[in-house]
Amino acid sequence: MSTLQPDAPSATAIVPAAGSGKRFGAGHNKLFAPLHGEPVLTWTVRSLCRDDRVRAILLVGRLEEREALLDAARSGLANDVSLRFVEGGLERRDSVLAGLEAAETTWVLVHDGARPLLPRETLTAVIDAAMRSGAALCAMPATDTVKHAPTGHRVDSTIPREEVFLAQTPQAFRRDVVLEAYRAAVAEGRETTDDVHVLEGRGVPIEIVPGHPHNLKLTHERDLALLERMIEERTMNQSPPRVGLGFDLHRLVEGRPCILGGVPIPYGKGPLGHSDGDVLLHALTDAILGAAGLDDLGSRYSDRDPRWKDMDSSAFLRDVMTEIDALGFAVSNCDLVMIGDRPKLAPHREAIRARIAALLDVEASAVNVKGKTAEGLGPLGNEEAIAAQAVVMLVRRSVDQME
Ligand code: MG
Repeated sequence: MSTLQPDAPSATAIVPAAGSGKRFGAGHNKLFAPLHGEPVLTWTVRSLCRDDRVRAILLVGRLEEREALLDAARSGLANDVSLRFVEGGLERRDSVLAGLEAAETTWVLVHDGARPLLPRETLTAVIDAAMRSGAALCAMPATDTVKHAPTGHRVDSTIPREEVFLAQTPQAFRRDVVLEAYRAAVAEGRETTDDVHVLEGRGVPIEIVPGHPHNLKLTHERDLALLERMIEERTMNQSPPRVGLGFDLHRLVEGRPCILGGVPIPYGKGPLGHSDGDVLLHALTDAILGAAGLDDLGSRYSDRDPRWKDMDSSAFLRDVMTEIDALGFAVSNCDLVMIGDRPKLAPHREAIRARIAALLDVEASAVNVKGKTAEGLGPLGNEEAIAAQAVVMLVRRSVDQME
C-alpha cells in the first residue's frame, strides 16, 4: 500500500544502462544477462521502485538498445512509476549528465544498472540522507588494512581504515546542485568515476549511509553466480518452503470407472463419488490447498453442487494450480500413497506419475506414487474402499515481494 502523501518530495532514478563493462563478456550489454530467469535490468528497476518517493525512472543508454532496455525495465516497473529513455553519451559522466538534464523532480538519484539487488532499506536510507543533507551515497566501510601505493606496487603508507569507504550506488542529490556541478565537470573534461565526485570540494555536505554486501555490481561474468546465490538466500529467508498434507477415502462399487491419479485403470469397480472419485488427485489437491493456506477441497467443490457431478478431478487440480500460481507458489515435489489391496497400482505407476507431473508442471522425478496393501484387513483390505494420502512441498516461484 502506498504511504505517499500528495505533497511528498519525489525523486527520479537515473540508471546508466550502456552496460558495456570491459571486464564482462565482450560485445554484450550485461544488463540483459539472465539473472534468476529475468534480465539484470529488470531486477535493478524493481529494486528502485521499492521506495514510494521514486516516481520516475530514466534509462540512459544506446539508441539501438532503446526498445530492449525499455522492455526489460517495464517488467520490473511498479504501476505508478513513469519510465523514460534518454540517449546517453560516450562516457558514463556524459550519460549521467544527459539523465540529469532530462529529470524533472527536485531530487535525483543515480544508480548503476548493473546493481540488481539493491535492498529496500539501503535505497530508503540514501534518499532520507540526501533530503536531510543535500547529497548522499551508500558505501561499505573498508575491512582490510588499506595501503597507499601510488606506483601500484610499492607501499608508501597505511591509510587509517576508519577513513576509507568503498562507494556503491545509489547516490542521491538535489537536482539543481548536482546538475550545475556536473555541467562544470563535463565542460572541464574532468574524470569522474562516480557521481558524488563532482560535488567534492564544492562545500556541499555529502552524507554516507551504510552500503550492503548484496548491493554488488555485476562486473565479471562470475558475479552472476554470486548474485544468483544471494537471491536464493533471500527467497529462503523470506519465504521458507511450505508443506501440506492431504487424505481421501472412497467406497468402491461395481460398475464405476476407476480413475487414479487422472489415469483410467481397468478394474471392474470404481470409487463412488459425486465427481469421478479420484482419491489420489483429491488427496493431492487437498495437500496443495493446505500448504497454500487455502480452503479444503470439500468446501470449494461441494458434493452437493451439481456442477461437479462426475467431474474429472484433474479440473479441480488445474483450478487450484492456477490459484496458487497467482499467489506466487510452485510445487517443489509431492509424495502420494494409495492404500488398498486392489486395484494393484504397480502396472500404472509410471503413467500416473507422468500425468500428475504434467498437471503440476514439474518433472516426473518430483512426483512419487506408491501403493500399500491393507493386508486383507477392514474395508481397505477387502475391496470395499480405497484411500490415499499425499504430502506436498510448495516453494515461492516469484520473488517479486523480495525485500
Ligand atoms: Mg474424494
